[in-house]
Amino acid sequence: MHRFFVTPEAIAGGRLTLAGDQARQVARVLRLAPGDRITVLDNSGQEYVVELTAVRPDAAQGRVVTVTPAPTEPALHLTLYQALLKADKFEWVLQKGTEVGISAFVPVWAERSILPLEAAEKKLGRWTAVLQEAAEQAHRARLPVLGDPIPLRQAFHDRALPVLLPWEGEQCRGLRTALEALGPVERLGLVIGPEGGFAEREVEAAVAAGALPVSLGPRILRAETAGLVAAAAILYHYGQWGG
Ligand code: SAH
Repeated sequence: MHRFFVTPEAIAGGRLTLAGDQARQVARVLRLAPGDRITVLDNSGQEYVVELTAVRPDAAQGRVVTVTPAPTEPALHLTLYQALLKADKFEWVLQKGTEVGISAFVPVWAERSILPLEAAEKKLGRWTAVLQEAAEQAHRARLPVLGDPIPLRQAFHDRALPVLLPWEGEQCRGLRTALEALGPVERLGLVIGPEGGFAEREVEAAVAAGALPVSLGPRILRAETAGLVAAAAILYHYGQWGG
């Protein structure tokens, strides 16, 4: 069944109304007709099965048949502060991270980031589309949030959020040890460096701001791999990966 994220106002009184691009996609691209069913997500964590009742390229309507809580959203809200990478690599992280179950992405500028902050700002529209497509494909019921690109130091302003800093220079504290010490959490931040890694002084500043350096094991992972691996391991640790 085709899946669509819609604005909360698109569903009211048990009825769905689609306009614009989505109506055109239903009518022209997918060639759906009255009687066909689609799954609709309004970012509330609920999943609506909707039977189409009227389909035109400029407007489509339907009737909500069932509403169920989506089983795909992890109870742990993971925010990935990803140092800016080459644009295609960054896109890859957004797409795969959405599949893995990350709930928010914040592009951060680190000293060795190849892509400047201003270039990242221009990519936000494209990156939002990548997230939406990945969320639909992965059957997510909430669109991962995309934060504004910020300098690394601003990633630590929320003192209430525990933040892990995977760093290949960390010799002692492994991820599991760190998570066991942390205990149950509802929200967790993860900061991953750029292709060339973090500068030593960036790590020092992050630690001074409360980030906990952790090792992701003996092998060096590429920047675009590290966040995905860490996120999967964290969700698994907290029982958010199925049985
Ligand atoms: N310093 C290296 C590797 C950078 S890897 C170099 O100069 O090429 C890019 C990012 O991935 C790092 O900043 C870190 O956040 C993460 N990372 C990769 N492998 C890791 C490991 N084994 N443990 C912890 N973090 C790792």
